[in-house]
Amino acid sequence: MTVETADPASTRPPNAYWSPVVHRLTPYVPGEQPKLSHLVKLNTNENPYGPSPKVLDAIRAELSDALRLYPDPNAERLKQAIADYHAVAPSQVFVGNGSDEVLALAFQALLHHPAPLLFPDITYSFYPVYCGLYGIDFVTVPLAEDFTLQVADYARPNGGIIFANPNAPTGRLLPLADIAWLLERNRDSVVVVDEAYIDFGGDTAIALVDRYPNLLVVQTLSKARSLAGLRVGLAVGHTGLIEALERVKNSFNSYPLDRLAIAGAVAAFEDREHFEHTRRAVIASRVELVAALEQLGFEVLPSAANFVFARHPARNAAALAAALRERHVIVRHFRQPRIEQFLRITVGHPDQNAALLAALAEILAEG
Ligand SMILES: *Cc1c(COP(=O)(O)O)cnc(C)c1O
Repeated sequence: MTVETADPASTRPPNAYWSPVVHRLTPYVPGEQPKLSHLVKLNTNENPYGPSPKVLDAIRAELSDALRLYPDPNAERLKQAIADYHAVAPSQVFVGNGSDEVLALAFQALLHHPAPLLFPDITYSFYPVYCGLYGIDFVTVPLAEDFTLQVADYARPNGGIIFANPNAPTGRLLPLADIAWLLERNRDSVVVVDEAYIDFGGDTAIALVDRYPNLLVVQTLSKARSLAGLRVGLAVGHTGLIEALERVKNSFNSYPLDRLAIAGAVAAFEDREHFEHTRRAVIASRVELVAALEQLGFEVLPSAANFVFARHPARNAAALAAALRERHVIVRHFRQPRIEQFLRITVGHPDQNAALLAALAEILAEG
């Protein structure tokens, strides 16, 4: 679990009115969103470039008296735009209020079975939180020493498999051929691939959904499309899986996406040029950042994401993170076995990366 800023709510004593499940929850702690604006914020993998101007125009155009009306509960325009982009049918697309919501619905709709759900020991720390919320039994499968996912380790009875690709917080990419290998051997349960970072360096498994009716690919507009503040996520899979998500969604909230989010997200998929341009800029900055960190003596895992995962052989990661913070640079540190000596650093704007590197050089020179 991540320990960063203590959630004040979790330190309050239990209340007699709580439903029993609330006592058992260990909520996810998101990366800090500091109120100070002068910070170099490299802790939550936001895109340093703004969203497409066409997204902003589309949202402005939606600002009218029509806000008194409910949005389209099925967000059909958006499903069509996503279907066009990924060359699938709209009935193979599900949308939700951020991919965190899509994932939560997938855990409930598709991953809750008597056999345990499998996921890597080092991965997105929200997965065990959903298991706690829904009472899903799970087993973590250790990544290899080099933090690669070995698909053969998942060839065992299970009630579902989920992993992030590229993985978080390591940034390592699992090749599509390995995912196909896993799907060939795992026909009886759902495999969810969480592709929050896929556009920064991998090929999407959406190419496999027509071949495997048990594959669900989850993506977000928060990272490569610079819309973390709009809260839009999606899933692509066989219509049978999408139908399960719709059934749970329509038993919970009919309108997860508001009118502004639908309009902005449609425009985001239509403006391919802005998307290509900004994601290439982030990838180029990542290559430079990795080289500069290695120059400073860091060991950096190969990253296909918009962040890098790095450790210094001679420096304590928690101390480095604290020293960076004193210099107004915030990165993410996880107090978790196997990775406590790593820092997860978001690839920022070139100016932010330069500020990070200057601060690190200063800290390392101080000894
Ligand atoms: C950021 C992230 C998400 C959540 O994205 P939202 O759409 O903003 O909710 C999901 N999975 C992983 C691995 C992420 O890093």
